[in-house]
Formats: sequence, structure tokens, C-alpha cells
Amino acid sequence: MPEGPEIRRAADRLERVLVGRSLDRVFFAFEGLKCYEDELVGCSVSRVATRGKALLTRFDNGLTLYSHNQLYGRWYVVRAGRLPNTGRSLRVGLHNERHSALLYSASDVEVLDEQGLAEHPFLARLGPDILDPDLTAEDIARRLEARAFRGRSLGALYLDQGFLAGNGNYLRSEVLHVAGLHPATRPRELDEAARMKLARETLRIARRSYRTAGITNPPARVTELKALGLQRAALRFAVFGRATKPCYVCNSPVERIDVASRRLYFCGTCQPRPR
Ligand SMILES: [Zn+2]
Repeated sequence: MPEGPEIRRAADRLERVLVGRSLDRVFFAFEGLKCYEDELVGCSVSRVATRGKALLTRFDNGLTLYSHNQLYGRWYVVRAGRLPNTGRSLRVGLHNERHSALLYSASDVEVLDEQGLAEHPFLARLGPDILDPDLTAEDIARRLEARAFRGRSLGALYLDQGFLAGNGNYLRSEVLHVAGLHPATRPRELDEAARMKLARETLRIARRSYRTAGITNPPARVTELKALGLQRAALRFAVFGRATKPCYVCNSPVERIDVASRRLYFCGTCQPRPR
């Protein structure tokens, strides 16, 4: 499952070919959306925003294409007149004179006006997006203190899209490790310094993963691991997927547990159980 950084990079790819160019053809496979095909011709995309796993393609006429890829949906970008080599079924096509942005297989697609966007039930339940450039560590620290979140374990909270949208399974393990917190820790057990450290690392790791296309290890460690001959897939994470291997910080074996039905990796020495 893609997480915030992967979704944001997909949105960037769409922005690069769609923003500032008017659409000359629009296709929707869904009967209920056919009425928007003509309405969107001549419009251009002003930006492609992300909210967790939802993409919001904003048109300059005030309409927004909402798409959630669930498990199978996938956007492709191709030169005008080409089609990707896929057996999937086309659901949305946005074409300008140079490129086509094509959404395949997704079933969760809507066209919304401003009011529909504001009232959308899925979006209304989401917390702020971890890759929103306006989101600050102070905002995250405040959410950690909020009544709805402060009594829950960090292991559960860091998958909850209502806490922060875009967090996901690998980010959860990686953030808690670098913050030195056991997944059973509850925000209300943290002093202000620990809460701020967690908030800062949450932003820092998500932004790093976005920049590096999914590498959360710090650059110096990545350089060392490359020198040892490790390939990209083996050097991405500090703990995620590294059960029984030595922690890079303290050499203790990394442990694997299940929290909220998903696998979580941590170091029992760097991340001691709360007392
Ligand atoms: Zn350790």
C-alpha cells in the first residue's frame, strides 16, 4: 500500500504534465460522470492536492476530481496519443495537447464542487496531511495532546488517518524508532520535550521519504550501507522489515510485533517500554 510520500510523488507526476495546459479531451468511464466531460474541456488543472490516500485534482473552473486508488487504482502519464501497456480498465482520461493522465482500475472517483468537497464524508474524517507544507511540528504536538488522541497507543495512532493523513505502516515503525518511543507509549505519558521530538521526527521522516522516494535512513547511513554493497531495497529503512537484524544504533536485534493488524518493527533497547 502506498503511503503519503508515494501518493505525493504520484501527484507531482500529474502536476508536471497537467498544470497550466488546457484539457482538449476528457473521458470518464462512469455514467454518472459523463456529464462533466464537456464541461472540463478547455479547463486546466491548478494543482493536484493529496489528502492521505486521496488525490484531489483541482480544475480552474472550481470543480475537483476526487480519486481514491484503494488497492488497485493507478495513474499513468503518457505522451499524447499513446496508451500504457496494461490490462487494466480505463476509468478517467485527462488529455491535453502534449500528455494524457490516465487513471486505471480505481472505482472510487467523484467530481465535486466546493461544497461537495467540504462535505465529503471520507475527507471530513481525515487529519491534516503529513506532507502539507503548512503543517508544523507544533501542529502535530498539539494533536498529540488532544483529548481524542492522547490516551491511545502510538502504535495505533500512527496508522489512524484521522490523526495524521498519509502516515502508514513503514513510516510508523521508522518514526517511532528515531523518536526512541515504544509503540505501546501513549502521548499523555510524554513530557513536552519528548512530544516535540516525536512531532519533529514525524515531519522530518515523512519529508525525507518524499524527497528520496522512500528511503527513511539518514543520508550518512545510506552512504555507509552502499559502501558495504547493499542495494536500494536493503538500505531504505532503520527497522522496518529488519526483524532479527542488528539495530543500526545499538546492535540489539530488531523485533517484530503486530499492532492494529499490521506488522510493526522496533528496537527494544532504543525504544524501551513505558514504565
Ligand atoms: Zn537500538
